[in-house]
Order: sequence, then C-alpha cells, then structure tokens
Amino acid sequence: MTDSAVSASHPGWSTLSSDMPAAVGGTPLILLRKASEATGCEIYGKAEFMNPGGSVKDRAALAIINDAEQRGVLKPGGTIVEGTAGNTGIGLTLVANARGYRCVIVMPETQSREKIGFLRMIGADLRLVPAKPYRDPGNYVHVSRRLAEENGWTWANQFDNTANREGHRTTTAQEIWQQAGGRVDAFTCACGTGGTLAGIALGLHDAARRDNVAPPHIVLADPEGSGLYGWVKNNDLSIEGSSITEGIGQSRVTGNLEDVPIDNAERIPDPEALDIIYSLLGEEGLSVGGSSGINVAAAIRTARKLGPGHRIVTILADGGARYESKLFNPEFLRGKNLPVAPWLDQ
Ligand code: PMP
Repeated sequence: MTDSAVSASHPGWSTLSSDMPAAVGGTPLILLRKASEATGCEIYGKAEFMNPGGSVKDRAALAIINDAEQRGVLKPGGTIVEGTAGNTGIGLTLVANARGYRCVIVMPETQSREKIGFLRMIGADLRLVPAKPYRDPGNYVHVSRRLAEENGWTWANQFDNTANREGHRTTTAQEIWQQAGGRVDAFTCACGTGGTLAGIALGLHDAARRDNVAPPHIVLADPEGSGLYGWVKNNDLSIEGSSITEGIGQSRVTGNLEDVPIDNAERIPDPEALDIIYSLLGEEGLSVGGSSGINVAAAIRTARKLGPGHRIVTILADGGARYESKLFNPEFLRGKNLPVAPWLDQ
C-alpha cells in the first residue's frame, strides 16, 4: 500500500474533523511484512491504536453514546457508567468530555497501571474493584449496573448492548472492505465483549453479499483462560490456563456474540503472542498491546491452514505503551516464565 493510499484512508489526516468524535475511525490498514513473508499470504492489521483514545474501543464508546442519545436515555449533562478493562472507559470518558457528560468507570484493580493512570488523567470518576468472576455479584460489570440503577445513570452495558457491534458493522467492517479492495479471505479477532469480532464479521458478510462474492472465513482468536475457544469448537465454555493479556477472554456468550457467523477458533498461548508483539515492534516499528499479539498469531495460524495467496485481516487493538509495566517489563515477564524482548533483556 502506498503512503498516499494510507493517508487517503485516514480522514484525520486528509480531511477536517469537526470534533474529537468525528476523528474516531478511518484508521490505516497496514501490511504486516514478517507475518506475510512467513506464510506467503498478505496479512494486514487495522491500526486501531491510532484512534484518539488509543484503542479500538473508541468506536464502541462512540456508537453506544450516539445510540443512547438517539434513544433519548442520555440527556444533556447526564452521567454514563460502565464496567471496563480500561479501553472502553478511556473512549467513553473522552467522548463524554467532548459532549458535556460525566463518566463513572468501574474497573478491576488488576488492569495495567498505565490504563488506570490515563483514566485518572482524563478525568474519569474511577472506581477500582477487586477482580471477581462474572458469577460473583462483586464483578465489575455487576457493580456498574447497580450504580446505574441506584443513581439513574446511563449504563453503557458494552457486553450486551448491540449498539457496540452495530458501530463496527457500519464503520470498521466497511472501511476494511474498501481498503482491501473488496477482497478479504479471512478475518481473525479476539473477544472481550465480542463487539469487534461480531460487528466486523457481520459487516464483512454484508459487504460480500452486496458485491456477490464469497464471505470471508471468520476466526475467533482466544487467549488461554477464556471459554470462547471451547464454545466455538464444541459448544463448551469450559476454561483452561490463564493469560496476562488484558481486555480479552470471556466466560459467557454475550449479547454481542449471539448469532454471529464464526467458522473457526484458535487458542493462543501468551509466549506465542509475545514473540509476535516483540517482532512487530523491533522489526516493523509497530508498538501494540497483548490482544494484538493474540490476533496476529491467529492470523498466521489461519494463513498456514488456508495456504499461500490469501488475504487475511486482523485488528491491532491498542498500543504497547499501555502495557509498559507488564509486556515490556523483564521482571514481570520473568516472574511468569515468559519471553522478554531481546533489547529489554540486558
Ligand atoms: N483488545 C483490547 C486491548 C481491548 O481493550 C478490548 C476490549 N476490552 C478488546 C481487544 C476486545 O474488544 P471487544 O470488546 O470488542 O471484544
């Protein structure tokens, strides 16, 4: 892809945006050279870390706020509350700042200190809670729902509110289809809420139907410690292992994941994802977070299964700086018996 093709695909560079929400989306689709060379395929990463809030979740935040405004449940000066691993909280708080709303963010205290610090910096009313499984009433999602009920606030409800996936269906998926020239053979993506995978899968199917071509093969990328791999493979949500990645992995079929065309799943161990993250940074100049490593690993495995000559798209969901204290911290990694980037290990 030429430089001009890249800038033309990014409205933030090529056009005037009326405000911050108008600058969400329109991210470049970047050829991942090493992954492509290794497989004989073209593997592209959608650079969602280039959104104003630094992650793919800006899109869900904006779609959910637009929908709540349109339905009349979010009124001028109102308060939005949400349970989040951090990135949705960042997106919601920034859009809320731009539109005059207040944001209350409930987050498990185990998430990276960079995300916690950034949320404080941008003015979120941050409530950290102990990490608890979804079945526990103290889980961050339930705490956020109760706060909404008790205070009459608007609950974003990103897991089950399908405004999340509709945002991706109408923006991210259509951008990918256009940038890839109407040919995507496979798409791989990890799930937290499932909004990104579901919305893009549905939107790519819409586009393929419109153009009368075969729809892409949709692959769910799952970290260890998540139930979705088993769900796709044999309808069994049981969980094995654990992962240091943040924002992905799920123990239930969320509203956003219902009735989505998923063809296959890959379960990716952390060392495989970390090797890819270090290679993307050290050899291609792309600084990405843990879920992007899982996504690209699944794209490489899918490329090997499909064979050379295929075009595969995945998501670079957020940037590496959000995880300096974990993914790029030799002490932390060694404590978990994980690989360390060669240039950090001296
Ligand atoms: N990657 C990162 C870094 C995230 O923060 C999230 C959302 N928590 C995801 C991937 C998953 O996106 P989704 O919620 O749309 O499934």
